Amino acid sequence: MKTDVLIIGAGGAGLTAAIAAKEEDVDVVVLTKEYPTRSQTCMAQGGINAALGNVEEDSIEAHIQNTLKSAHGLANEETVRYMCSEAPATVAWLDSIGVCFSRSEDAKIAQRRLGGASAARSCYAQDYTGLKILHTLYDKALSLDIEIKNEKILLELLKDENDMVCGALMLDLRSGQKERYFAKSVILATGGYSRIYGKNSTNSTKATGDGIAVAKRAGAKLLHMEFVQFHPTGLKNSSILISESARGEGGYILNSKGERFTNELAPRDEVSRAIDAEIKKGEEIFLDIRHLGEQFIDEGLPQERKLAKLYENVDPVYDLIPIKPVAHYTMGGIEVDNNSQTNLEGLFACGECSNHRVHGANRLGGNSLLEIAVFGKEAGKNAAKRAKTMESHVAASPKDDFLEQEFTKEIDFYVLRQMMGDLLYNKVGIVRRESELREAEAFIEETKKKLPLMGAKDNSLRYNTDLAEFLEFRNMLDVAEVVIKSALSRKESVGAHTMEQE
Ligand SMILES: Cc1cc2nc3c(=O)[nH]c(=O)nc-3n(C[C@H](O)[C@H](O)[C@H](O)COP(=O)(O)OP(=O)(O)OC[C@H]3O[C@@H](n4cnc5c(N)ncnc54)[C@H](O)[C@@H]3O)c2cc1C
Repeated sequence: MKTDVLIIGAGGAGLTAAIAAKEEDVDVVVLTKEYPTRSQTCMAQGGINAALGNVEEDSIEAHIQNTLKSAHGLANEETVRYMCSEAPATVAWLDSIGVCFSRSEDAKIAQRRLGGASAARSCYAQDYTGLKILHTLYDKALSLDIEIKNEKILLELLKDENDMVCGALMLDLRSGQKERYFAKSVILATGGYSRIYGKNSTNSTKATGDGIAVAKRAGAKLLHMEFVQFHPTGLKNSSILISESARGEGGYILNSKGERFTNELAPRDEVSRAIDAEIKKGEEIFLDIRHLGEQFIDEGLPQERKLAKLYENVDPVYDLIPIKPVAHYTMGGIEVDNNSQTNLEGLFACGECSNHRVHGANRLGGNSLLEIAVFGKEAGKNAAKRAKTMESHVAASPKDDFLEQEFTKEIDFYVLRQMMGDLLYNKVGIVRRESELREAEAFIEETKKKLPLMGAKDNSLRYNTDLAEFLEFRNMLDVAEVVIKSALSRKESVGAHTMEQE
């Protein structure tokens, strides 16, 4: 199949890119391994940042300064300035296409304060912000007749004889057949890689870093892969997120003695480190929102109450919520320039799989939904503009077709996948030591060597989810390897990367 712009991923970034590309009057095809509205964007709760001018003490400059401070010198100021300046218009656009933002009493878009922000800047739809944004983007994309095909798994990128990216090799989950899609421009919008931490993550099980692994295998540069954000308020037993809005609205973090030991509104890296230190002293950690009252919780944080009841068996109106820090967001990704173009000609990237240098060493809550909308639009526009100047072309098969290999299936990869998640959480987590990073590195290297002994046990052609998960596992190993090597090469502690001397 041939198109002008091929987009892999139908989360907030992929759909925004698709809408922007379509508005440039080119043909657009979106491929996704999940049903679009199940993309991880639907899990975002707390909000999307924009200095709308409704709050006296806020300004675009304050948004820029908060973002730069949280990034610890590793963001690009020009790009941050662009993102924060575009934020009010981006939220206005989302509002105009139908995102049902919560409103204040004077009918303006309601805003709340999140960690690391100097003002109430995060625009929200109760605590379902990502879900409302994603569903609205999907409706908009359908209304523009954008072709969206789900249950298509990215295997490799296709390149022409000049090494230019010109399409993608996909696996159709329904038929088990490989398919080739050719395009004048390709955009990766495949999300982050927090699931390399297995169950110790707030993320969807599909956040396996596929696009990043595929891009790397094709020769794309990755940037800042060592920076993984641990969110302070994952539920203790399930790792499900209790949104930052719970702290933003006035929640306390307590130890077993009932003492507050950290500034709850500090950026996530600081709060997570403080909690980690308490846990290492043997303390249990809790989030306390009881003082906010039932009416406030039910109106502003309804999902958090449901999640705590369902997954931790506590009711936050009356009980403390047991929490622990868990992997939540990955700042690292495919390096792109200001046009969202990677170092590979023809390949663009946006969303959590990309690195636009706006988050640096630690992302501010509410800035990811902003990034996917602002740079999703840029990626779509720029990919479309490029497509208009290109002839359509086809490519040879990718050099390395993994699925053509023989797998002996002696080893159960699910066991190793679980081991990898726990090992990374313990050795490549909030506080890192060189010897532990080396241990994790050795485990990944050994496991990669054993891949031919694994493989999917299910031999079915149609709907082989076992095979799909094996492909994800391979990608996670590739990504984990880069995370560990990048962590080893950054000796200093900065933002979400803390090195402890031995
Ligand atoms: C619980 C939770 C709460 C959050 N709350 C907030 C918040 O309040 N504010 C904020 O700013 N950020 C928040 N975030 C972060 C934010 O939601 C994400 O960073 C953002 O939504 C990522 O969007 P995306 O479009 O890049 O990726 P995703 O939404 O993850 O979409 C990725 C897409 O790529 C597809 N895909 C992946 N691999 C393949 C493959 N191999 N083949 C084909 N398709 C593939 C998937 O099917 C999916 O459609 C939160 C995250 C979580 C987990």
